[in-house]
Amino acid sequence: MNDTTLGQGGGADELRSLRERYVPRGITTAHPLVIDHASGSEMWDIEGRRYIDFVGGIGVQNVGHNHPRVMEAVRRQVERVTHTSFQVVMYESYLRLAQRMSELSPGDGPQKAIFFSTGAEAVENAVKIARAHTGRPGVISFRGSFHGRTMLALTLTGSVQPYKQNFGPYAAEIYQAPFPYEYRGWSTERALASLDELLASEVSPQRVAAIIIEPVLGEGGFVPAPREFLKALRAVTERHGMLLIVDEIQSGFGRTGRFFAIEHAEVKPDLITVAKSLAAGLPLSGVIGRADVMDAPAPGGLGGTYGGNPVACAAGLAVLDVMRDERLPERAARIGSVIEERMRSWAQEHDLVGDVRVMGAMAGMELVRDRKTKEPADTETARILALAREKGLILLRSGPHHNVIRTLMPLTIPDGQLDEGLDILGSSLAEVAAAVPL
Ligand code: PMP
Repeated sequence: MNDTTLGQGGGADELRSLRERYVPRGITTAHPLVIDHASGSEMWDIEGRRYIDFVGGIGVQNVGHNHPRVMEAVRRQVERVTHTSFQVVMYESYLRLAQRMSELSPGDGPQKAIFFSTGAEAVENAVKIARAHTGRPGVISFRGSFHGRTMLALTLTGSVQPYKQNFGPYAAEIYQAPFPYEYRGWSTERALASLDELLASEVSPQRVAAIIIEPVLGEGGFVPAPREFLKALRAVTERHGMLLIVDEIQSGFGRTGRFFAIEHAEVKPDLITVAKSLAAGLPLSGVIGRADVMDAPAPGGLGGTYGGNPVACAAGLAVLDVMRDERLPERAARIGSVIEERMRSWAQEHDLVGDVRVMGAMAGMELVRDRKTKEPADTETARILALAREKGLILLRSGPHHNVIRTLMPLTIPDGQLDEGLDILGSSLAEVAAAVPL
């Protein structure tokens, strides 16, 4: 038998070979690093190299890695009880978090909250709740959206490669409308006309339980939905008795400069899905929404063994305290203005930068080979990410064409590290922009 205890001190190459041998290729790893520890906005690999983290575990570490207040809350909860299942007996952390999330919700009237473990699970449950409330089967989602990898969430997801591949058949009664992605030709008016057409030709509005939208497309390339579009969706859903679900799994928790991105549009959604930065890396997700809607499923219809785990909920409460006390939404707005200034100046210097989209610290830069044809510069984007890594910055891209560099750094990042990371991104971009076209 092999010794499977941790800390045997195998080098990075040995650990990478374990990945090759024992982990399937279906799960990719963007950067071939083995991380030893992290703190705030920095990570160190097992060879002692330091990296600035502009990814935060895919938008999970808005309060930064290992925030002392979160660590303390986790430690205290671990010492008391780690799991009972809320379906068996209650515990305070779940109940207090439900109260606080309900109070924070931008929804109309009394709110309730229920917790799960992953984003996909929150999305699936939001759909179950919407169907139970309306008695209707249909759900409309958007092209370019990402809602998760379980089968219903994957059906809602509007991007084939690499997520959907050949995993079907997919769930029934899901319809897709174009997202208002102005840079790629979808103005608000055109996207709304297309939604009308869908409701006239593919599914009658009376069959639709809900429309689900990310207020800012995350995996789809950091595209904010214009405020007029979100307002129009609210009007359409109200007119036809549908619910409006906003998926704030990536855009939520202070990142865009408000607690929830939907607040920028002053739209009151019926249901909100949350996950990622809710619990600073402990698996926790939730659905928050109108109390009457949330109570639609009969007792026993919702749940899950681990949903709202006590340790994760304790972390969630600490995250909310940190967000409030360190004024992280305001900090996100400031970070965003620093990033925007840099990205706009890069756009003036390099034709490679086709579009810059910024909503608070959720900033994206879409790279193209030709500003007229807008041919996606996917390989160039990959080279920038690799170059930046060599210089000590961890970045991630997104977009259906994998050509958008996005920023998801912790909102607690000190100014010096933010500048250091942006300098690395700027010099990597300049190097690739100056190279002979591929
Ligand atoms: N919705 C959105 C908007 C997301 O960004 C993600 C994850 N990237 C999900 C849902 C799925 O979350 P999870 O990976 O935790 O299932």
